[in-house]
Amino acid sequence: MVVGVLALQGSFNEHIAVLKRLGVKGVEVRKPEQLLNVSSLIIPGGESTTMAKLAELHNLFPALREFVQMGKPVWGTCAGLIFLANKATGQKTGGQKLIGGLDCIVHRNFFGSQIQSFETELPIPQVVAEEGGPPSFRAVFIRAPAILDVGPDVEVLADIPLSAIETINSNPAIQKEEDSTESGKKVIVAVKQGNLLATAFHPELTADTRWHSYFLKMVPEIEEGTSDIVSTSTSN
Ligand code: GLN
Repeated sequence: MVVGVLALQGSFNEHIAVLKRLGVKGVEVRKPEQLLNVSSLIIPGGESTTMAKLAELHNLFPALREFVQMGKPVWGTCAGLIFLANKATGQKTGGQKLIGGLDCIVHRNFFGSQIQSFETELPIPQVVAEEGGPPSFRAVFIRAPAILDVGPDVEVLADIPLSAIETINSNPAIQKEEDSTESGKKVIVAVKQGNLLATAFHPELTADTRWHSYFLKMVPEIEEGTSDIVSTSTSN
């Protein structure tokens, strides 16, 4: 089995390159029938409204929703996170088509515009770092969304204090949003809900492969050794 990477738009090549470094074959997915040949799916970052329009054009929505509902592992990064969310808020989200399944409210472009993109070190969640490595990871946020609220089945893997962002990214909108978030001074940037993983940042743009390894551990075929991945010691 191979890992599919939705290749309509955005950073799909970078994900495929990381998978290759981990000894796993990643294949581009552009048509509904291609989902039948993959064990799991990565939805890359890019631009979620463009991605949605292209998905509509290729008649991908029914197959993508079925893939999610069947319990197949799906990881959305940045625009991919927005695409997986049950609800998106923020500018220009009216009528934006989503795959859904991830019980959360995501705010598009939460940290500001392109020039307010930033990188920061965040503590690596215990489950992601089971096999070691440094205690933090480089989180790359590019016109990134943030998760404002999650349902009861959603496990929060990483969040970020807004005070930290204010010093990196002096966006006045952050202060305003802070008042409207129920989680107070933090916003959520990585979650897991059953077969779904979602991150607001871009691990595929760094040399740290631990988020990809974590996702691969969610793929049963890989755990059972039917894939060409080398090591899969986990109970996850
Ligand atoms: N701002 C983009 C969107 O709303 C996401 C950016 C990204 O994927 N890096 O779709």
